[in-house]
Amino acid sequence: MPGFEILDHEERKEVMDVLDNGVTFRYNFDHARNGHWKAKEMEELLCDTMQVKHAHLVSSGTAALQTALAAMGVGAGDEVIVPPFTFVASVEAIVAAGAIPVFAEIDETLCISAQGIEKVITPRTKAVNVVHMCGAMPDMDAIKKVCEVHGILILEDACQAIGGTYKGQALGTLGHAGTYSFDSVKTITCGEGGAVITNHPEIYNYAHMYSDHGHDHIGSDRGAEKHPIMGLNFRISELNAAMGLAQLRKLDKIVATQRKTKAKIKAALADIADIQWRELADPEGDQASFLSFMLPTQERTAEIHQKLSEHGVDGCFYWYVNSWHYLKNWQHIQTMTSCAPLPIELNDQVPDYTQVHLPQSDDIMSRTLSMLIKLSWTEEEIDQRIESMRQAFA
Ligand SMILES: *Cc1c(COP(=O)(O)O)cnc(C)c1O
Repeated sequence: MPGFEILDHEERKEVMDVLDNGVTFRYNFDHARNGHWKAKEMEELLCDTMQVKHAHLVSSGTAALQTALAAMGVGAGDEVIVPPFTFVASVEAIVAAGAIPVFAEIDETLCISAQGIEKVITPRTKAVNVVHMCGAMPDMDAIKKVCEVHGILILEDACQAIGGTYKGQALGTLGHAGTYSFDSVKTITCGEGGAVITNHPEIYNYAHMYSDHGHDHIGSDRGAEKHPIMGLNFRISELNAAMGLAQLRKLDKIVATQRKTKAKIKAALADIADIQWRELADPEGDQASFLSFMLPTQERTAEIHQKLSEHGVDGCFYWYVNSWHYLKNWQHIQTMTSCAPLPIELNDQVPDYTQVHLPQSDDIMSRTLSMLIKLSWTEEEIDQRIESMRQAFA
């Protein structure tokens, strides 16, 4: 998944454009910037690439989630359904909004399931945060159907899945709003950065204002702008956007490389009876940053994880025991502990997160391993990796 592997003269050129004119602010300074609008340019390219009406860059994927939730009207006391297998940011953003995370079961897609969502809907449910984990998607048709019936908004956290599609549509464009992360280890990187994408003009309008103290961005005189809403500063800098612009131009190549490598490894391991591949709701849309599979038991999974490491197969994740990706291991989130009292404490119907019971997710996650697909592997390195993986399973 890491775009940082292929940084070259193209990123350097874009960043140098910014350094040469000295304007790192994404708005205004129309004369000084010599025609360079890196954030705007990257947003336009995102719209083109994803076939979406609006894209707005922000300072991180986490900021994108916070901005999207606010722009969708999710706030104090609203419930937002979220999977227990994700990066903590998907949950933190909900809590920061003053809303209440409600966890729902995942299925073999490793993403939230429509049935899981349906079971936890209440009259206070405002939205579901559908996280496209490890480059691929859940059954979006089924999820959209449930959400439509119940009048629930869909936010797609596609922070790990840029370049993926579902039935031909870019992940992130299937719901009301979607988010990408461009942090240093994501498929493409700005160093730090993120984006909100949406086909809804009113969500876009709130998103660009919210992420810049409510500025309406009308006209070229910042001092004369109006502030219809309150917001925060989640702006991206031109330096970060410049880097991301060069990276975004490489996205097709990155995804093609990942897909080719993944297909080769998958085919070479096809005869290993223990392996149950992660279910892909649309196999053609997998952006292939990870190879994920399930094993028959938790014991076998722990054993294979260990053996892969012993055979030098690096980049393998056993998320079930990893402290950043599974609810079971998030003590601070289970107890809603921060450095100061959280808005969630003002709600009277907050679940006891230490008692959340998700047996199906536990079963799946206790048997799941994922291997990161790197862009820099040579054919020889891929062959060697396949050989080492086969030995680990022997
Ligand atoms: C990385 C990630 C985020 C947060 O992105 P940052 O840019 O690191 O803030 C959110 N959700 C998921 C699923 C992620 O993988």
